[in-house]
Amino acid sequence: MERKLAILGSTGSIGQQSLDVIDRNPGKFRVQILTAESNSMLLVRQALHYKPEAVVIVKENLLDEVTSLLKGTGIRIYGGHKALSEALRDFQPGIVLNALVGFAGLLPTLTGIECGMDICLANKESLVVAGELITGMKEKFGSSIIPVDSEHSAIFQCLQGEQKSSVKRLYLTASGGPFRGRSADYLEHVTREEALAHPTWQMGPKITVDSATLMNKGLEIIEARWLFGVEPENIRVVIHPESVVHSMVQFVDGSVKAQLSPPDMRLAIHYALNYPERTASGIPEVSFEKPLTLTFEPPDTKKFRNLALAVEALERGGNAPCVLNAANEIAVKAFLDGKIGFLDIGRTVETCLNRTDYIRKPDIEDLISTDKLARVRAGEVIDAFIYR
Ligand code: NAD
Ligand code: MG
Repeated sequence: MERKLAILGSTGSIGQQSLDVIDRNPGKFRVQILTAESNSMLLVRQALHYKPEAVVIVKENLLDEVTSLLKGTGIRIYGGHKALSEALRDFQPGIVLNALVGFAGLLPTLTGIECGMDICLANKESLVVAGELITGMKEKFGSSIIPVDSEHSAIFQCLQGEQKSSVKRLYLTASGGPFRGRSADYLEHVTREEALAHPTWQMGPKITVDSATLMNKGLEIIEARWLFGVEPENIRVVIHPESVVHSMVQFVDGSVKAQLSPPDMRLAIHYALNYPERTASGIPEVSFEKPLTLTFEPPDTKKFRNLALAVEALERGGNAPCVLNAANEIAVKAFLDGKIGFLDIGRTVETCLNRTDYIRKPDIEDLISTDKLARVRAGEVIDAFIYR
């Protein structure tokens, strides 16, 4: 029987790769909902091809255009951000693949959990911002989260058949990004184009910059903490430039399990969609026919401050990771817009972390207001950089 599926953010990097995975799994999934923020043309093309029951265009000024291009198809068309949750409630897909970027992914994740859906989660920011809240809700509503992020997919796979009490440590691997080994002086002046040239992964612009600053790995430590219930001090980062070992778990007996495959997100997506089954994917495999050298080294947290800032936010807990995430989103956008330098991203995040009021056990309203306030603060900090 085909499982009904919503792909939130279907026009993005993960969204498009998810559709490719669906094509490679004929007869298994039925695309029920597709969504885009502003790429209305691609959304319409996807809708005409996959014939979902509904589409959501978040930018409401594009609603008329999408409506007229899909006229006569019978597809229900929604506009606006709230419609992401509304469409999930109206159509009740069994699986939600959340491929939205940033804080915008949080409310749809919560809706999916409340409706008892299985969430294939690429949107790591949901867990960064509201990990504790989501963990509690997941138990209450009996829904499950299957990670799509490659490191977390690797750990999830390594943990199959293992007891939680036998886990000693998680090792998240990181490529190190395009600036691995560069001096602080060099980092001060890198351009947008250099930051967007990732050595091993093709991804959306926000996560690509996060990978260059190592904030991505910081966000992933927080994500792993909530997905696997492991204490922060037992989550380590190791730089692995080849991006073949996607992460590792060390057990109490000292043994280490790892998951290996070429850097291609489609395998993690395929695994999450088919879980708990493991099926043929047709996706390129690691070859041992030619010499293959895999290298590992510790990260430089002095030069790449963001990693340390994320750990600090996780240790503070409460709304601190929400502040970290919001400030980072605003700072990354300012960097991409050419307004601030590369190292100003970390400076913005650090200043905001130290300026926002602390809430120990935030509810969803607290998180929404923390996010708003932190964005305003980050904007002020960035203005000060611009006029320095
Ligand atoms: P992307 O920018 O390529 O795509 C984002 C998608 O979300 C698009 O469809 C866009 O229309 C939609 N969107 C953007 N802003 C929105 C908003 N405010 N409201 C509603 N929809 C919005 O991003 P991506 O690289 O595909 O990443 C998506 C998520 O997956 C991120 O959380 C990222 O960290 C995570 N992730 C991505 C990769 C990757 O290889 N791209 C790997 C691991 C994890
Ligand atoms: Mg990752």
